[in-house]
Amino acid sequence: MNYFRLGVLVVFAAFFSIIGSSSRAAEPGVPILVYHRFDPGKFALTTVTTADFLGQLDWLDQHDYHVIPLQSVAAWLDGRAPQPAARSVVITVDDGHESVYTQLYPIILRRHVKVTLFIYPSAISRASYALTWDQIREMMKSGLVDVQSHTYWHPNFNHERKRLAPDDYRKFVDVQLLRSKQVLEQKLNVRIDQIAWPYGIHNPDLESEAKQAGYVMGYAFAGGFARPGSDQMAVPRIPISGWAHVKGFPALVEQDVARDGGE
Ligand SMILES: [Zn+2]
Repeated sequence: MNYFRLGVLVVFAAFFSIIGSSSRAAEPGVPILVYHRFDPGKFALTTVTTADFLGQLDWLDQHDYHVIPLQSVAAWLDGRAPQPAARSVVITVDDGHESVYTQLYPIILRRHVKVTLFIYPSAISRASYALTWDQIREMMKSGLVDVQSHTYWHPNFNHERKRLAPDDYRKFVDVQLLRSKQVLEQKLNVRIDQIAWPYGIHNPDLESEAKQAGYVMGYAFAGGFARPGSDQMAVPRIPISGWAHVKGFPALVEQDVARDGGE
């Protein structure tokens, strides 16, 4: 084959791969919300009041949104499941704070809402502010709660990379990725293959270490909707701050609707 014909073939292959990926990238996205803590009265950057959370669920109901499990979106992004229905939304909660059990769980039981918890297991049943293994197992039994990894002890990978020698840093990353997966799988008897990056910190090295450790999907804080064609190891999520209350919530949930052709 001469170089000209080879060149033509390469150009065609590139053209069709662009067409293929852009048609999937144009599929409507799904907002994946991320919460941290809940409180009956106080709010803060990462603490939402229970009244505001209830108001936000009401707003979703009134605007025909359905809360769907994160795993339906993960399967869609992975090409294993069809596109979720229009106006789907996902609720995730990072860190495993005790208020997930005391404040959030009674609400989702009553409203039958499914959530995914990203847990860093070193704190569970140890830190005074954290959930216990029994509480997590009880919530999982309801069928409304599933769990994935948030590393082993929630490090700031940027700080650790500066602090440690390169070899030590690599070992440190491996422990954070592998030990979290092992402990969660052993304590909860489920498969752990997804990770939410602590502080949203991720980069190509961390992403490839995570793949080697057996993770197939990672979640960040980039904002915007999750849609096929985006980096599967850094799927965007939308942080919900306590300052959003109910009034600021629609703008967060619908921030990316324009990219889907407007609604
Ligand atoms: Zn976190």
